[in-house]
Amino acid sequence: MFIADCHVHSCFSSDSNEKPENIIITCIDKGFKYVYFTDHHDTDFPINPENPDMDFQLDFDAYFSKLSDLKEQYKNKIEIRIGVEQGICPEVADKVSKLSDSYPFDFIIGSSHLTNLSIENGDPYYPSFYEGRTNVEAYREYFKTEAENVTLTDGFDIYGHIDYPIRYCPDKTFKFNFKDYSDIIEIFFKRLIEKGKGIEINTAGISKIGYAHPHIDILKMYKELGGEIITVGSDAHSTENIGFGFDIAYKLLKELDFNYYSVYKDRKAEFIPL
Ligand SMILES: [Zn+2]
Ligand SMILES: [Zn+2]
Repeated sequence: MFIADCHVHSCFSSDSNEKPENIIITCIDKGFKYVYFTDHHDTDFPINPENPDMDFQLDFDAYFSKLSDLKEQYKNKIEIRIGVEQGICPEVADKVSKLSDSYPFDFIIGSSHLTNLSIENGDPYYPSFYEGRTNVEAYREYFKTEAENVTLTDGFDIYGHIDYPIRYCPDKTFKFNFKDYSDIIEIFFKRLIEKGKGIEINTAGISKIGYAHPHIDILKMYKELGGEIITVGSDAHSTENIGFGFDIAYKLLKELDFNYYSVYKDRKAEFIPL
């Protein structure tokens, strides 16, 4: 099984209340070799007045201070690696690059939580994202923005939950059909692979949409295009989800003939045989 859960949120994220100490203890109990913290930071996130606490702004200095202390405290029990999940959209790409260079991260997930800095039509979480256009058009815009983001910043190592809108599409009968997006996803992957960046298997999808992100057809294309870097993460926001669905993710990678998965240290990929 995997030696780490590479996508975990603590109370440093606006949408989690989990204490970092509990995460460390859970990872030790589960027999992981490393603990990864990948808390949210979404630069210039548009705050919804109905939900002002969800600002997704990370206090980087407090984060590094706390996690560095814990790293020292637990050094004989488990290695802590400090990551972040940075939200990327074209308007903030330069700021993402700067932040990524300003702190000694081990690992940076770049994620599209927004296609632009607008609550009305930039956030796939809200039904308004899908209004006034077909679901296919909405998803295509999401993938197009991801493909664009890759050209705008190097401030990330792997791209997170690459088919994220599937989680939130209000039309629950709408089925994802890879062919409707394969042209854009191919461009996205070619750019990503050329830059030496990877993707993740995000097992949070299993409980939300019935399978891990990304859809198996997307993973197959990644493999066909020569993509080799894959991290595995639960996107847990509380300890009970740490390592969730890892047996399913492991089987999937074996089934698709991937030979390795990756973990990161000092923003460099380490390849672990499957
Ligand atoms: Zn995310
Ligand atoms: Zn996350």
